[in-house]
Amino acid sequence: MSGTQSGAPDRAEPLLFELGSPGRSGIDLPAPAGCATRLGSAERSTGIGLPDLDEATVVRHYTRLSRLNHGIDTAFYPLGSCTMKHNPRLHEKLARLPGFADVHPLQPVSTVQGALTVIDELARWLRILTGLPAVAMWPAAGAHGELCGLMAIRAAHEARGEARHRILVPDSAHGTNPATAAFCGFEVEKVQEGADGRVDTASLEAALSPDVAAIMLTNPNTCGVFESDIQAMAEATHAAGAYFYCDGANFNALVGKVKPGDLGVDAMHINLHKTFSTPHGGGGPGAGPTVLSAALAPFAPLPWVLHEDGGQLRLLEQATGPAGASFGRLRAFHGQMGTFVRALAYCLSYGREGIRQVAEDAVLNANYLRSALADTLSPAYPGPCMHECLFDDSFLDGTGVTTLDFAKALIERGFHPPTVYFPLVVSGALLVEPTETESRTTLDAFIEAARDLAARAHGAEAGNFADAPGNAPRRRADETRAARSPVLRWKPPAAERG
Ligand SMILES: *Cc1c(COP(=O)(O)O)cnc(C)c1O
Repeated sequence: MSGTQSGAPDRAEPLLFELGSPGRSGIDLPAPAGCATRLGSAERSTGIGLPDLDEATVVRHYTRLSRLNHGIDTAFYPLGSCTMKHNPRLHEKLARLPGFADVHPLQPVSTVQGALTVIDELARWLRILTGLPAVAMWPAAGAHGELCGLMAIRAAHEARGEARHRILVPDSAHGTNPATAAFCGFEVEKVQEGADGRVDTASLEAALSPDVAAIMLTNPNTCGVFESDIQAMAEATHAAGAYFYCDGANFNALVGKVKPGDLGVDAMHINLHKTFSTPHGGGGPGAGPTVLSAALAPFAPLPWVLHEDGGQLRLLEQATGPAGASFGRLRAFHGQMGTFVRALAYCLSYGREGIRQVAEDAVLNANYLRSALADTLSPAYPGPCMHECLFDDSFLDGTGVTTLDFAKALIERGFHPPTVYFPLVVSGALLVEPTETESRTTLDAFIEAARDLAARAHGAEAGNFADAPGNAPRRRADETRAARSPVLRWKPPAAERG
């Protein structure tokens, strides 16, 4: 079938090495006359093994490759936890304005007052939306924001002369949480979930002790449910002298409705590339600004953006003056300018009321899917969900079809599969996040496809699932082998034979 209608790609693309042929060229210049080489014995006598190509072949190759991607601009992309929402073109246009796109990080501060104002104004929105007094704008992504928060927490404990070495992380946490804690030199200790998908407050309290530096929780958590005891957990954490890190990647379920500061959060990264559009599925840059409570604010990373008396903005680059306790620099330069512009444009175009509706619609859409599919797929937990709905694989019991098969079959229908096998606390998880930007028509099309596939899994065609997707150039990659022994180098066929 053709890929155009379903969005599914229909043919493999050769490598540029395979497309080249000797003598082809993309330039048309005569060899320079009377120009002797000065390389002497360092001059190459053989080719360097790059293919000879003309320009049209190269352009077509990359254009075809770009069409093999399933992107948010191609079709529905209900990836749980990662929030693949529509990216308004107006924001793209603004990010490309030369004053933002061409700004250089080493320009004198007096020439980049506009760019600093965008950073400062976005920081103000993030502080208001989270109810927390400080924000480090520089982290390059969510996981980097986690690192920023944990480094501030470590600096705060060290400033008090306390060497706390443990971090409590629930089973359902995103993998980056324990990874960041370990990377930062902490010991990671798991906390149990209850049967309702929420962290068990009693187990958390039991695990708190004088060597716990922080807890890392996600709210709504990665089971798509709201941690309703979060304030009690924050109080218990603070009473034990520890800090409360909240993974804010799911902030789109709460934004404009709940301020994490009111819940007792001390540090939280915000994935601008999830909550504030600019989805990262295409590998584009993200940004993970990290909001900090009053207790952690003095330790925020450099540089600090400060207001001068004359209304100018300045960058404090050294750990001196008000930034005397800063834990230092987190990265070179000043974050992802293009992502800041898009995120501020997002805030300004929705406005205060509109941002609240973002959260309401995200939750409404997820619950629409959940209730429409509740009798077909198997919801992992009873009751309504937040911005994403979690199913387990019990609806496939006895069919021989797995969650992976089901996800691959959705590709045939032109949908990007939801997140699968995460969170780990549920068997064969399917985590579906529609986002607020999808219309009811799109949701209905997805519901219909999922219902039809579920019916087929229970019918005579169950055996076909093992081969799905039938219409994609790469169907079932051996992902373990691809990760363990990647083939990173093309060899010419002759060399392979030799
Ligand atoms: C995406 C995500 C992260 C990590 O964010 P990156 O920007 O990918 O580093 C952390 N936690 C949760 C729950 C996420 O969904």
